[in-house]
Amino acid sequence: MGSTRPQRLLRAVQKNSTRGDPQSVISAIDHFCRHKEWAMNVGDEKGSILDGVVSEVNPSTALELGTYCGYSTVRIARLLPPGSQLITLEFNPAYAAVAKQVIAWAGLQDKVQLVEGPSGDLIPQMKELFGVKSFDLVFIDHWKDRYLADAQLLEECGLLRKGSVLLADNVICPGTPEYLEYVRNSPRYESRYFKSHLEYTQAEDGLEKSVFLG
Ligand code: SAM
Ligand code: MG
Repeated sequence: MGSTRPQRLLRAVQKNSTRGDPQSVISAIDHFCRHKEWAMNVGDEKGSILDGVVSEVNPSTALELGTYCGYSTVRIARLLPPGSQLITLEFNPAYAAVAKQVIAWAGLQDKVQLVEGPSGDLIPQMKELFGVKSFDLVFIDHWKDRYLADAQLLEECGLLRKGSVLLADNVICPGTPEYLEYVRNSPRYESRYFKSHLEYTQAEDGLEKSVFLG
């Protein structure tokens, strides 16, 4: 076919959504993934839970681990209060190139810093690269075997403050048992599960919201 799924997703956005209208970008991606090709976006059902947490936290500084095509980036960034920033990390250059265009199409490029590279290298550089003191909200949605290591790295780097919220996707499917065991049993977190379904399917999946207690 000569094109990749992310490139086809981008074309669907350009064809079926309005430039500068994030909600229409989200709807175009959901429609493409429900009716044409499944893709690993957080999706509409878990996306509304994500929206609720973003609105509740109302973050000044947010971090996303795993951008892919920028679907959840657009969801989060569209809800940020003026002057807030979202830093999103993606180590696949082809995905990052598509995400940049999706974010710009939604008109959210001024709220989002997309950084290309592996989270394990970039998290320790957040203070020097962006002057971040701590993150109010971290959306964790990259490869599942990195959730625990990167949560602990955020702690070690002093990037979590009392009240910072970690929101982790796909904790059931594909699943992140070590991470769940950690946040549910550590006295440093207060953790709650939001039951839902794997994006664009009926299989159980959910989000885990964990408040860092310091
Ligand atoms: N958050 C996106 C959404 O809901 O629209 C989906 C992200 S997708 C499930 C996971 C992404 O994380 C992939 O694009 C993958 O390349 C990226 N990724 C995985 N491990 C990473 C790491 N250690 N550092 C940076 N990016 C990573
Ligand atoms: Mg996910």
